[in-house]
Amino acid sequence: MKRGAVFLDRDGVINAYVYNSEFGTVDSPAHPDDFVLLPGAARAIAELNQTGLPVIVVSNQPGIAKRKFNSALLAAMTEKMHVEARSAGGCLDAVYYCLHHPLSELPEYKVNCNCRKPSPGLLIQAAKELDLDLTKSYMVGDGVTDILAGDSAGTTTIFISARKCYICDELVRQNAKPTLIVTTLLEAVKDISSMERSIQVPRDHLVLSHCFNFMEGK
Ligand SMILES: [Mg+2]
Ligand SMILES: [Zn+2]
Repeated sequence: MKRGAVFLDRDGVINAYVYNSEFGTVDSPAHPDDFVLLPGAARAIAELNQTGLPVIVVSNQPGIAKRKFNSALLAAMTEKMHVEARSAGGCLDAVYYCLHHPLSELPEYKVNCNCRKPSPGLLIQAAKELDLDLTKSYMVGDGVTDILAGDSAGTTTIFISARKCYICDELVRQNAKPTLIVTTLLEAVKDISSMERSIQVPRDHLVLSHCFNFMEGK
């Protein structure tokens, strides 16, 4: 019998976004020095490992395609993520990146791929390579595209929104319906653990979110 997995988005779930005060923008880290884990993220990964499910990062990283960093810097950031997870006793079983961008100036990255979320390609690839059952899996992310990708792949979806679901309207607009909405990765992990313990309980009974009702009411 195939097992499920927990798929984690990276930026905004495991590590913090980087605020650029010069341009007033928020972006993915482009250098290992700017790659900082969110509070509790390493501990959450370690707790997730306790469920016995593999923990797999699935992330759009178009920074190389946009010439913001090179593959060596991306590899160094990935290594830092592994090291920091391990420092709390956690383990990331696999990392899958989509490096493409449809508007890249670099021909090898200018691809209309099927792995850039909201497409489910990264999850499908991981399921093939690691022999996973996507219907027994979870996709955890802080973007609408994470929820859409998880949904297309057939996973349970958990939306992380630190600020009382400030993009709930956007979820509704794009018809993205997360199974659960939580505020942190740690909270998501607690919900996954309880769902795994009571897998025979209908999942509707496990909706614990503070703003799911708000969405349902729309
Ligand atoms: Mg994200
Ligand atoms: Zn791709």
